[in-house]
Amino acid sequence: PEKSRVTVVGSGNWGSVAAKLIASNTLKLNSFHDEVRMWVFEETLPTGEKLSEVINRTNENVKYLPGIKLGKNVIADPNLENAVKDANMLVFVTPHQFMEGICKRIVGKIRKDAEAISLIKGMEVKKEGPCMISSLISEQLGINCCVLMGANIANEIAVEKFSEATVGYRKSKDIAEKWVQLFNISYFNVSAVQDVEGVELCGTLKNVVAIAAGLVDGLEMGNNTKAAIMRIGLREMKAFSKLLFPSVKDSTFFESCGVADLITTCLGGRNRKCAEAFARNGGKRSFDELEAEMLQGQKLQGVSTAKEVYEVLRHRGWLELFPLFSTVHEICIGRLPPTAIVEYSEHTPKFS
Ligand code: NAD
Ligand code: 13P
Repeated sequence: PEKSRVTVVGSGNWGSVAAKLIASNTLKLNSFHDEVRMWVFEETLPTGEKLSEVINRTNENVKYLPGIKLGKNVIADPNLENAVKDANMLVFVTPHQFMEGICKRIVGKIRKDAEAISLIKGMEVKKEGPCMISSLISEQLGINCCVLMGANIANEIAVEKFSEATVGYRKSKDIAEKWVQLFNISYFNVSAVQDVEGVELCGTLKNVVAIAAGLVDGLEMGNNTKAAIMRIGLREMKAFSKLLFPSVKDSTFFESCGVADLITTCLGGRNRKCAEAFARNGGKRSFDELEAEMLQGQKLQGVSTAKEVYEVLRHRGWLELFPLFSTVHEICIGRLPPTAIVEYSEHTPKFS
């Protein structure tokens, strides 16, 4: 049988780590070609050099993952169409806001038998309603798309510290197993569940809760308050997911993509970090400004996801059912002060 060819679309912080991890597996596994192509959104570094050229010369993504060798079989390619054309396994891992444009550029330019997986935490809201990124990929490109989400802070996986992840699949267990084979490694324990929407919504919605947790940190409210915010957030994640997709399984929230990702992101993620700074500044400096200053090109997903979730809630008349999600958005846009995150919680109706 033909060997599979893998292309990673995206080369940010997680994208680079994913390429490194995959590349160490393709070297070991006979069913995959050794080479892993990685599409790089080209940029010129302060030295005047092109990022993709520096990656290929040094084998390091000096901007988004400095100090880590990616493996010699990772080839950076700034030409998107060229990077995807021969692959039958496409790994999508860019900030979610860029995916629609990327799909438009590669429609009709990929192999018809290609399989996709999305590592992207986010959603789009269209006139017709919310659209998960895996559905966007699947619908626009006409291919099947699994997801992989988990408690996966990229910098920790880059130095091979142990973590777990969850693959969500729709129909074919065989395809899910192929993805597990590609990603699973001694320090990255991957399992598959048949609940693509549940896995993807966990990964997407926890970024909104992480903003709330960061606000609480910035307000110096302590651990009990933060745990309460995480608990209420998890409830809203589950309720929202099930309202959108009744097929979502309770058990998915106990996988790595659920409670474990919620915990790690609320403890050590970028959304948490920027929200803490936002609250410390009393909401006077915008998230855009803090993101640019604190993340040096990396992107927050929680602020835009809060907006996208809010649009869905407003449109469906569900705002009052989701006080945490809606308060996070109103704080992000400056309609409420950061302290509203706890004021709302003190007055929130008691849940069972
Ligand atoms: P990142 O936050 O490092 O984002 C920077 C990337 O965006 C760079 O590759 C940059 O070139 C690219 N970019 C900037 N402008 C662009 C444009 N106009 N078009 C296309 N690309 C552009 O990215 P990341 O950390 O790889 O995150 C990608 C996804 O993975 C996100 O959905 C994120 O939530 C998720 N994720 C991240 C982590 C993590 O720890 N970093 C862990 C798990 C999941
Ligand atoms: P942040 O984007 O908040 O850093 O979260 C990373 C993540 O998704 C960990 O699983």
